[in-house]
Amino acid sequence: MAKQYETVIGLEVHVELATKTKIFCSCSTAFGGAPNAHTCPVCTGMPGALPVLNRQVVEYAMAIGLAVNCTITRENKFDRKNYFYPDNPQNYQISQLYLPIARDGYVEIETGGRRKKIRIHEMHMEEDAGKLIHDEWDDVSLVDYNRSGVPLVEIVSEPDMRSAEEVIAYLETLRTIIQYLGASDCKLQEGSMRVDVNLSVREAGADKHGTRTEMKNLNSFKAITRAIEAERLRQITLLEEGKRVIQETRRWDDNKEASYAMRSKEDAKDYRYFPDPDLVPVVIDEEWLERVKADQPELRSEKLVRYKEEFDIPLSDAEMITSSKRMADIFEETAILCGNPKKAANWLMVETMRLLKEHDMEPEDIAFSPAGLAKLIQLAEAGTINSSVAKDVFEKIFAEDIDPEQYVEEMGLRTVSDEGTLRRVIAGAIEDTPQAVSDYRGGKEKALGALVGRTMKAMEGKADPALVDKILKEML
Ligand SMILES: [Zn+2]
Repeated sequence: MAKQYETVIGLEVHVELATKTKIFCSCSTAFGGAPNAHTCPVCTGMPGALPVLNRQVVEYAMAIGLAVNCTITRENKFDRKNYFYPDNPQNYQISQLYLPIARDGYVEIETGGRRKKIRIHEMHMEEDAGKLIHDEWDDVSLVDYNRSGVPLVEIVSEPDMRSAEEVIAYLETLRTIIQYLGASDCKLQEGSMRVDVNLSVREAGADKHGTRTEMKNLNSFKAITRAIEAERLRQITLLEEGKRVIQETRRWDDNKEASYAMRSKEDAKDYRYFPDPDLVPVVIDEEWLERVKADQPELRSEKLVRYKEEFDIPLSDAEMITSSKRMADIFEETAILCGNPKKAANWLMVETMRLLKEHDMEPEDIAFSPAGLAKLIQLAEAGTINSSVAKDVFEKIFAEDIDPEQYVEEMGLRTVSDEGTLRRVIAGAIEDTPQAVSDYRGGKEKALGALVGRTMKAMEGKADPALVDKILKEML
């Protein structure tokens, strides 16, 4: 009988914090400036430059730590992680090893109707490295230190996940929490959320973990899912062939759907960590901690309860809408503006989700204003435009945030409910499709569809569908 294997997965998640300035200097964290425009002696590692900790970084880290049920380390401190790499001008990264800001937390995930706690081992604050650019010129690499010193938190889970499905559920939960806190936009594609997957396999029922590998360069949930599946199979194949899994860091190539060994995996001792002598310990007093606790925004679980009470929408709707902070914000404002929460929910869940998928976008990328959607809902509810025109107009709102009222007038999209006009057009449709007419008269209800279709086409989609139906039935 073939052996059964269990996959054991733990994650290291780096999240770029949404501060305006870097962690140890006052340079801007803005994305996309000219190379090395946002730099100073501190973030380019000049000798003698001294780091000064950004208070906002600590507050975001505390907020995240509290939201994922961690204990906040009331006296935490920074250590130097020593390694040489050209994107790291100090030759060490300022990070936290011995006393990270948060420890021993968990988040709850749900997969296939089952709830499970994924424990968080610890979360620490650290600085990001610069970026190497290899393809600009042929024979040299360039370095851009704009990202050097951008604040990060690294959230290290326990190896509690057993499948790609659980991993994605964990990441989605984490991302939602952090987005709700406003601590980061958590965009995988842009690197503000980065995931390293530690994976090992073992025979089902074994107590001991197998040798794990770490996979990097995973920049979408799809890539993470594919990488987990491929790595699981690679390790099982090795074991089946009587070979060993080597502890190493592997780079995932999503185009080739394969991973490649990058380097043998380092342990903490390889980095010769020691306390950073330039920074004083971070002491969090009771008052500070209480203030951050009091400032925690409404999280998703709380919104779910409130939506039921305030907007009376089904739980399944509320769950879908609150899966993204951006979506929830748009929903609340739209619902209040148009006075029709259920319609607002429907537009977000159906058309908005469809367009996001079509354009390969995240809910956080939604750019239209709630006012536009609210007006559209009112126009459709008042019968000013019919539902198929409303869908077309919504595509314009989604893409360009147009004013639907103005657009409908300009493009002449108002629903035609003038009976005289409709009767004339319908008479033409009846004349043109004798087959459908005789089918309908012969008892085939469905044949009416062809006549409605023909009428709508002649009306360029702008007829009142209920009225068309009524007149058609009369005239037949
Ligand atoms: Zn700087």
